[in-house]
Amino acid sequence: MSKTSQILMQMYEAARARFGHREWWPGETPLEICVGAILTQNTNWTNVEKAIANLNADGCMSVSALHAKSQEELAALIKPAGYFNVKAKRVKNFIAHVYESFGDDIEAFLDRSVATLHEELLSINGIGRETADSMILYAAGKTTFVVDTYTYRILLRHGLIDSDYDYEMIKELLESSLADDVDLYNDFHAQFVAVGKHYCKPKAKCAGCPLEHLPHDPSAGLE
Ligand code: SF4
Repeated sequence: MSKTSQILMQMYEAARARFGHREWWPGETPLEICVGAILTQNTNWTNVEKAIANLNADGCMSVSALHAKSQEELAALIKPAGYFNVKAKRVKNFIAHVYESFGDDIEAFLDRSVATLHEELLSINGIGRETADSMILYAAGKTTFVVDTYTYRILLRHGLIDSDYDYEMIKELLESSLADDVDLYNDFHAQFVAVGKHYCKPKAKCAGCPLEHLPHDPSAGLE
């Protein structure tokens, strides 16, 4: 096991010992997870939950029902998630893509290789790397690591990456250092989110952080 792998697993075990298994993603179905991955851009999960509850209450949480909604109708339903006009357009783009080839069968859409899903999802206007990887990991259940601001900040402060690492470089580092285990990928990302939300904020709060015993420089990446 490489030094990086060892440090990563020490981080994971320490965070998990504190926060427990995170049981992510908090969506009920593959479609809810995909829609949630778009809605959670630039907002917190509580707001996404309200938007998803509106969609469920309206009875439109299916590919065909979402496809039948106008962008304006959809925007009104997802209003709690913020940036609702932009997000409604993004959801419509994603849904149209699925509907054209797979109709209501989102499982069939997701039941393809990581490379195919990655390429297709990134071709849809409004779906970036983090959103695509969230769908592939949490809705399709396939091993692709989700990188976010918390991941970058924690790895930077623990000396595993340099400040010029981009999304793909961080993803490559993680995927080449961790066992090919979808549950590990799933929970590892969720642990990074928990550490980032509670401790590794733009100004690090290292006292009491579960990763405090590991070598780190809290001033790295200070925003
Ligand atoms: S808050 Fe401090 S100890 Fe915790 S992850 Fe960030 S740099 Fe590491």
